[in-house]
Amino acid sequence: MKPKVVVSFRQCEDVFESLNDLAHVRFCPSSNREEFLKELSDAEALVVGGEPIDEDLLEEAPKLRIIARFGVGYERIDLEACTKRGIYVSYTPGALSNAVAELTMGLILCLSRKITEADRYVRTEWGKGPRFTLGIDLEGKTLGIIGLGRIGIAVARRTKAFDMKLVYYDVIHRQDLEETLGIRFVELDDLLRISDFVTIHIPLTSSTRGLIGERELKLMKKDAYLINTSRGSIIDEEALCRALKEGGIAGAGLDVFAKEPLPLDSPLAKLRNVVLTPHVGSATVETRRKMAQVSAENVRRVLQGEPPLNLVPEQKGKIL
Ligand code: NAD
Repeated sequence: MKPKVVVSFRQCEDVFESLNDLAHVRFCPSSNREEFLKELSDAEALVVGGEPIDEDLLEEAPKLRIIARFGVGYERIDLEACTKRGIYVSYTPGALSNAVAELTMGLILCLSRKITEADRYVRTEWGKGPRFTLGIDLEGKTLGIIGLGRIGIAVARRTKAFDMKLVYYDVIHRQDLEETLGIRFVELDDLLRISDFVTIHIPLTSSTRGLIGERELKLMKKDAYLINTSRGSIIDEEALCRALKEGGIAGAGLDVFAKEPLPLDSPLAKLRNVVLTPHVGSATVETRRKMAQVSAENVRRVLQGEPPLNLVPEQKGKIL
């Protein structure tokens, strides 16, 4: 009997179906919990999007050998519970960095040149009289990158073309990169004080939850913009709404939210100085395909008795 692989979403099906030479691939959304758990009861591999994976779910999936996360943020997977059961957790590092960096640049440009506002203006007010307000140049402005990892580096590379000044804050000093990227390390408070644009590229962990709160927002310049394509809960959203309403900062570009989908009645959705996208950092045809290929390869290796290529760092040396 071939082992069963469950994929919790329908995207790049052909890539996952290529595993059918050694497995039996089933697509089953996790939204129907009962059906999903039934499929998992004899599955040896699971490919997941952002769904939570907890003890209760693992209890129902006694044969699992690998959970392949289709993405790089795996804060909703209980790693300790997986490690205890000898279940590998893999992810797709690097496959999506350029796509997220491109979206970040898109949000920066939308804010600096008011592109979404301009679109609304053309459809409603142009020709009626009021002038469209001026944007700002990126040249010479300072971009502060919080988290100089894979995505942060990809953003830094792209901003070179716009002649921006670069500073970063990270728990790791990346002296190896500073010269080639033309970037300077500063402490977080200093980054917030001096940057015209602040962009966040760190994982959501117990130490980063709420990292940007009222105090941090108050350190930012009144004409600065905040961009977040990492995880919503890294920012205190209530404090952010207040800062945006009261002119504490000029605007924000957000791809991620504490609660997703963002409720339609969220105060953020009512603000004009905010550009919102629905967690689409990696959502391009090419990138999603690369992510599917990496996920499928990790599953293939485990089903063939090898460890996955992209084991999450927390499990390194802890799982046989
Ligand atoms: P990465 O691990 O390569 O980089 C993260 C960086 O953050 C590292 O350099 C690390 O040292 C640093 N860091 C960790 N904790 C920190 C802290 N407390 N303070 C300062 N720096 C800290 O990860 P990556 O591939 O660049 O991805 C970053 C995050 O982006 C992911 O964890 C994920 O949550 C998010 N993401 C979002 C999307 C999207 O669709 N919007 C897509 C992919 C990734």
